[in-house]
Order: sequence, then C-alpha cells, then structure tokens
Amino acid sequence: AIEIKGVWQQYADLVVLENINLNVDSGEFITMVGASGCGKSTFLRLLLGQEAPSKGELLLDGKPLAKEPGPDRGVVFQRYSVFPHLTVLGNVLLGLELQESPFLGRLLGAKRREAREKAVAILEKVGLGHALNNYPHALSGGMQQRLAIAQALVKAPRILLLDEPFGALDPGIRKDMHDLLLDLWKQTGLTVFMVTHDLAEGFTLGTRLLVFDKTRVDPQAPGAYGARITYDIPLNSDRKAAK
Ligand code: ATP
Ligand code: MG
Repeated sequence: AIEIKGVWQQYADLVVLENINLNVDSGEFITMVGASGCGKSTFLRLLLGQEAPSKGELLLDGKPLAKEPGPDRGVVFQRYSVFPHLTVLGNVLLGLELQESPFLGRLLGAKRREAREKAVAILEKVGLGHALNNYPHALSGGMQQRLAIAQALVKAPRILLLDEPFGALDPGIRKDMHDLLLDLWKQTGLTVFMVTHDLAEGFTLGTRLLVFDKTRVDPQAPGAYGARITYDIPLNSDRKAAK
C-alpha cells in the first residue's frame, strides 16, 4: 500500500500542494484531474521520487519511497518518453539493461538473451511485436505511446505513473489505448496513478478519481495556498486488478 501523509510541496513563495493525505491500496487505478497548474505533475514527480516533498512523507509498504525511481516504478509522459535514435526493441532493452551489472561474459550473454525475451514479450503484449526494428519516427502517435508503456512496464514495476499519456492522441485511438491500459492493469495487478485533462477518461478508467483544486485564493498573496484533494470518488467498483 502507498501512504501519503501530510505532504506539502513549495517552491520559494509558491505553495503548490497543501497537505495531501491519501492511502492507496495496491491494485487501485487512481485517475487525477484538476485545473492547469494546480500541481498534478508535481504530485507525480513526488511519487516518482524525482523530488522530495517540502513537508510530509510518502511511504510504500511502510517504508519511504526510494528517491530514485527504482524498478518498482514505471512512468509514461505525454511525449518524449522514448529515444528517437534507438529502435523499438532498443528502447525497451535500454530500460532493462540499465539495471543489469555485467561482470561475466557468459552471464552477460545469458542476461542479454533473457532481457531480449522480456522485451519482446512486453512489446508483443502492447501490439508492437511486428515493429521491433522500427524507429520511433516511423510509428504513429498511438504506437509511440504503446512503446512508452512497454518501456515503463518491462521491469514489471508495481506502480505505473502516467502524466496525460493520451493527451496528444486522436479520440478514436485513445479508446484503443484505454482498452490496452485496462488489459495490462487487470493482468498485472499494477497500482496506477494517471493524470488526465479528460474528465470522461478519468471516470471511465479509474477505480477512484481524485480532484485537485485550490480551494482558497488570497488576492494579496497569490500562491500562498496550494492545491488539495477536494474530491475522492470511488468508481467502477466491479473492476479489480489481478492480485
Ligand atoms: P498542467 O495541467 O498544466 O500540466 P499541473 O497540474 O501538472 O499543470 P504542475 O506542472 O505540477 O501543474 O505545476 C504546478 C505549479 O508549480 C505551477 O505553477 C508551476 O509553475 C510550479 N512549479 C512546478 N515545478 C516547479 C519548480 N521546479 N520550480 C518552481 N515552480 C515549479
Ligand atoms: Mg502537468
């Protein structure tokens, strides 16, 4: 489980997040909406471990979330999640091999084979099995996001963080991406945190929708108050990830 206790994030005089408290069970699919600039991406950066909070703590199974995103977390952004100079397979392998420490030639050979098998398996799952040797520029926007998802999931993380992952895609393609994401979530028991600007998407995909809002504004001191979670809405109770 993930516990977020009294988390504040502040940059100089600007309070972005104000006292965020949240308990998330593993296997939940959390969707998050809120006005532009209210701190949704900041919240994801805290979960990713890219930043430490100004105050409060984030715990995973009772222990502080590691600062550097370890293999327990994968992330997908709206754009630029993949490397243009690497093939589809190369992109996914990169995610894996950064983790490996090759100290014996023979072991390395076996590890490479194993890594390749893992990478191909996840690429087949996201529907890119036919495009292993293509470069990202040759892929459609939707296919590029499939690749980004494969890259995020190849290490079998427990938590998947998504920052408006389908925001740049056509509505028709978005529907396919929703189906893919729900399939992956159901199969793996992942805990998902997904930021979206699309309220319908938030309601459709999530088992729980969080609304971030700045409830107070001080005209004398704009930025003195941060965003809080103003609604926490349970959804799609019939839907559960595999445990
Ligand atoms: P959007 O919906 O537009 O993506 P958001 O909800 O993701 O917005 P954030 O990107 O988290 O919002 O930004 C929240 C506020 O924090 C903004 O005012 C932003 O300028 C500010 N901010 C974010 N990171 C930093 C930083 N490293 N230093 C200073 N200010 C920052
Ligand atoms: Mg953002």
